[in-house]
Amino acid sequence: PNLKWGGFVININNAVQFQHLIWDRCMENAKVVVDATCGNGHDLLYLSKRAQKACHLYGIDIQMKAIKTSKELLQSNDIAPEVSLTFIHDSHDLAVAHQLKDEVIDLMIFNLGYLPGGDHQVVTKPHQTIDAINEGLQKLSKSGVITIVAYPGTTEGFEEMQSLKSYLSDLDQKIYNVCHWHPMNQIHNPPELFILQKR
Ligand code: SAM
Repeated sequence: PNLKWGGFVININNAVQFQHLIWDRCMENAKVVVDATCGNGHDLLYLSKRAQKACHLYGIDIQMKAIKTSKELLQSNDIAPEVSLTFIHDSHDLAVAHQLKDEVIDLMIFNLGYLPGGDHQVVTKPHQTIDAINEGLQKLSKSGVITIVAYPGTTEGFEEMQSLKSYLSDLDQKIYNVCHWHPMNQIHNPPELFILQKR
């Protein structure tokens, strides 16, 4: 089942692709964008290509290898000169709390789990993920959005998603819209998407 959007075909069963629909709309006006798990830089590249003039993007990762790969990917692609990028090598909970403390964030994204092609032992941890989301929520602009792709296909990923669901279900509905999107007829626990918006 495919959906045409702006000339691109989106696979609606794929959380990573489906979130592009949300990002595309956010990027029309976003001034500050944060990739809290920049990994190999694919998501950051996608966002940078859609960034408007004077948009600033942050790429955060706990692994230096990921920061280096992302930097190289972004440098080897033509990003508009008015778009600026800062990479932060730190855990996202700390980076958002300290380095981004004065920012108002329009879009923040998380792609949980491990670095593809990297060390599978270095995975996102529920308490750090939740702390980083919590920090991000405090800094969101009006109508600002956080997207989170979780990977329940591994035991650790499943547990992380359970913690996330319990945290997100308790967010005040007067302040945030919180949605959960997931494929319904797929085997093997495919990735699931959470979308948060400041009201
Ligand atoms: N968005 C990436 C892309 O487009 O290539 C993929 C991200 S990958 C699934 C998850 C990343 O999260 C890994 O690179 C890993 O190093 C990073 N990570 C794990 N724990 C982290 C933490 N506490 N803070 C920041 N990054 C973390």
